[in-house]
Amino acid sequence: MNYTQLITDSQEHSKGKVCSKCKEHKLLSEFSKRRRSKDGLSFSCKSCSKEYRDSQCRFNRWYVTKRKDGKRAGWEWDIEPEDIPVVRIRETITEARNRKYYSWEAVEYPKVCPILGLELDWGMNGLNNNSPSLDRIDPTKGYIPGNVMMMSQLANKMKSNATTEQLNQFSRYHLFGNNNEKDITEVKVA
Ligand SMILES: [Zn+2]
Repeated sequence: MNYTQLITDSQEHSKGKVCSKCKEHKLLSEFSKRRRSKDGLSFSCKSCSKEYRDSQCRFNRWYVTKRKDGKRAGWEWDIEPEDIPVVRIRETITEARNRKYYSWEAVEYPKVCPILGLELDWGMNGLNNNSPSLDRIDPTKGYIPGNVMMMSQLANKMKSNATTEQLNQFSRYHLFGNNNEKDITEVKVA
């Protein structure tokens, strides 16, 4: 262990700065990294940043990430948030330093998977069965108006991994055991 380095490190660690939000003096370790800043750290402390993130519209955060991923994957992206069924947004224009800033938040967005009835988790805590997923109804086409629908990650996986006939067979098996004779459309499901 390099002793001089250790001293320098501990001196650096005991340094801090004032958070632009809560105005408290906090240790540098209380700030996340931000490459574009002069000091390489975020202006506001971690807890203020988290509070800000939590106050943001979850659908907006999800949508912006989804659009970036979709475009990066090479898909045509020609939709606006309101092209997704159920979604309604509110737009806001604020002025600061002689510049206009446009932002939006969703006032209505799907909370439940329309296929499986699972409550959708909009918290962006990784990818789970109940994570929201934007399905391309016709998988050969991109994200274009009329071809998108929200569902759970699980429903989307089932849909994309199996053919319609396989999903039918699966449902028949589930309802009648191994008797694949009956057509699922003959049966009323309670
Ligand atoms: Zn703070």
